Amino acid sequence: MGRLKDIFTKKDEKKLEKGLSNTKKSFLSRLGLIVAGKTKISDDFLDELESILIQSDVGVETTLKIIDALQTRTAKEKYLSFEDLVKMLSEEISKLLKKTNSEESDSKKNEPYVIMVVGVNGVGKTTTIGKLAYQFGVQGKKIVIGAADTFRAGAIHQLQIWADRANAPLIRQEMGSDPASVAFDTIQAAKSKEADYVLIDTAGRLHNKVNLMNELSKVKRVMSKVIPEAPHEVLLVLDGSTGQNAFQQAKQFIEVTEVSSLAVTKLDGTAKGGVLIGISDQFKIPVKYIGVGEGIEDLQDFDPDKFVKTLFRK
Ligand code: GDP
Ligand code: GDP
Ligand code: MG
Repeated sequence: MGRLKDIFTKKDEKKLEKGLSNTKKSFLSRLGLIVAGKTKISDDFLDELESILIQSDVGVETTLKIIDALQTRTAKEKYLSFEDLVKMLSEEISKLLKKTNSEESDSKKNEPYVIMVVGVNGVGKTTTIGKLAYQFGVQGKKIVIGAADTFRAGAIHQLQIWADRANAPLIRQEMGSDPASVAFDTIQAAKSKEADYVLIDTAGRLHNKVNLMNELSKVKRVMSKVIPEAPHEVLLVLDGSTGQNAFQQAKQFIEVTEVSSLAVTKLDGTAKGGVLIGISDQFKIPVKYIGVGEGIEDLQDFDPDKFVKTLFRK
């Protein structure tokens, strides 16, 4: 589905395995505990499973969907072993993940594809841009990055470091300058360089900051003066390690801006990876990328099948 790599290498698989290890550990050990000594699915068992899913940050609504599905299935199929339970659970979770995260085609015209990256402070926007630029570059694509976070001290410098690592040109102005003006320059530069992708960094914004949201609209409006369809994509970055908080942020952003895709970062080192299941189910917006580390190669296309397989692999 995503655009990073067609081949999921052994190295990527290891990174995903490692990135999800804390989530896996807590989830599987809890499952193991409730399964021990039981031979069939009772209502008590489903109650316990429900609280495990909720504790794993899957979210209440999505948890109830999963429990309902299991209840329906187990009315017919008798549950016997841990393996059976895992099989049923992973099938149901896969179904939910696939509904929103399905194949999509990149209808690409002969102009740069513009991705505007949004999200609150510290979620990993700048890092994700660096990783994306690098990986597009590896595929032989031409990238231009725009430093439209002109608000936070150090933001431009930080992005410059990533741009250098990724070997991509950065369009920048002084700190404090108008982000819309930076975005305009960036799109123009990308057009004249015949770039394939444009990545626009933005300042951390909170939904309740009306002026900031207006600023975001202005940035979008100004870009479309150069390329009418730009931005082609508004990528909302969420910090997966904040669990339900990430969920709330998604809700708030989606209410006020047209978000077209999601990236969930910092899945490494957290046990709250279950939030990805709830986010995929509740918002009809695909999770395109997941961050599994701070390094330049630690961004992956989100693949529901691989996610579920890795999550349940003992
Ligand atoms: P921004 O404010 O949204 O631009 O966030 P930054 O890109 O500056 O990232 C904030 C912090 O999160 C940095 O220390 C990053 O190294 C870290 N970070 C970003 N993505 C990941 C990830 O996938 N895993 C881990 N462990 N850290 C990440
Ligand atoms: P608080 O942390 O909730 O008090 O919110 P802030 O006022 O610190 O704003 C949150 C973030 O939004 C800041 O760190 C900036 O990244 C960004 N921000 C705030 N005001 C502006 C503004 O006027 N322009 C831009 N571009 N970004 C802003
Ligand atoms: Mg940043």
